[in-house]
Amino acid sequence: MIEFRHDVDLRSLHTFGTPARARTVIELHSQDDAAEAADWLRARGTSSLVLGGGSNVLFRKNVDTPILLNRIKGIEVVSEDASSVEVAAGAGENWHGFVEHCIGHDWCGVENLALIPGNVGAGPMQNIGAYGVELKSVFESLDAVELATGEVHRFSRSDCRFGYRESIFKKPPHKGRYLITRVNFRLKKVPDFNTSYGAIEDQLEMMGVRELSIRAIADAVIHIRRSKLPDPREIGNAGSFFKNPVIDEDAFRRFHAEHPLAPHYPAGEGYVKLAAGWLIDQAGWKGFREGDAGVHNRQALVLVNYGKAHGNEVYSLSERIQQDVEAKFGVQLEREVNVIEA
Ligand SMILES: Cc1cc2nc3c(=O)[nH]c(=O)nc-3n(C[C@H](O)[C@H](O)[C@H](O)COP(=O)(O)OP(=O)(O)OC[C@H]3O[C@@H](n4cnc5c(N)ncnc54)[C@H](O)[C@@H]3O)c2cc1C
Repeated sequence: MIEFRHDVDLRSLHTFGTPARARTVIELHSQDDAAEAADWLRARGTSSLVLGGGSNVLFRKNVDTPILLNRIKGIEVVSEDASSVEVAAGAGENWHGFVEHCIGHDWCGVENLALIPGNVGAGPMQNIGAYGVELKSVFESLDAVELATGEVHRFSRSDCRFGYRESIFKKPPHKGRYLITRVNFRLKKVPDFNTSYGAIEDQLEMMGVRELSIRAIADAVIHIRRSKLPDPREIGNAGSFFKNPVIDEDAFRRFHAEHPLAPHYPAGEGYVKLAAGWLIDQAGWKGFREGDAGVHNRQALVLVNYGKAHGNEVYSLSERIQQDVEAKFGVQLEREVNVIEA
């Protein structure tokens, strides 16, 4: 049975903590609930907004369309052999809880993604990534209810067309069309560690780790993240507000001639990725604050709510940063955070 709540204060349901209310929140605990909610929406001819942990959204106003709050739980082994295991996780499982579950079972593959806030179901939405690993490297398939029909569809890795913080679920015509209910992962039982990010190596050394393990890598990542990123329980934020811009090699040559010290990384044949945080920092925004909206003083990529900022104030700050970075560097910043306007 689906549960309804009316006139809900959303502040505790998203990590920016900016004020917004929802007319209706429908809490889902199973795939059947998702299908029932789809029927309910269809009968009323209304659209909806799916919410997981609320760690990648910015509300600009109150939400009139019903919010589907995904709380579908459960982690189970689907199949396994000597070298790998296929694990299914309910989309409403907390992501870091899932990572800890894998570490506890010695399943390798998600340890670099430790401590990313939010739920399992949102992971494939933007192909979450951190410290040299993206979700797509362990992704097997997902199940999603098509909200317009109530039908369940299975999407393979190639169906999802994962890219850098991208999947088909972020773009029309798939955007807003599906509610992801369960995600299947393929994890390794044999060690296959990724410490390509220098910071992990340095941290492991500082921790005195002599023998690499899944636990040690996760602990190193957790330590780095805690020292770098603001905790949303203390300062409202949604992690990186912008994506790192990817530009073609011609544009990069021109950019690099003017800014030889700018960090840059290969981004596939003919493309180069720039560091959005560096651009914002160099443009002078790091630590900027106006009212309660600001740019974090240690991490320029993170916009913050110091307490009473409205979503619109954070949004206009993001617009000013975009305009300034484009004027100074000729580079367009795209928002990573999902801006909720409806
Ligand atoms: C401090 C901090 C650090 C972060 N670090 C990282 C990082 O290192 N790497 C990274 O990739 N991200 C990072 N993020 C962003 C965020 O944690 C991830 O994007 C996460 O996957 C969002 O999960 P969520 O459940 O909170 O999604 P929500 O914010 O609830 O939703 C995000 C989007 O996904 C949609 N959605 C959510 N669940 C479903 C579902 N079941 N079916 C269909 N659509 C759904 C929503 O409609 C929305 O459009 C960080 C955020 C914070 C606050």
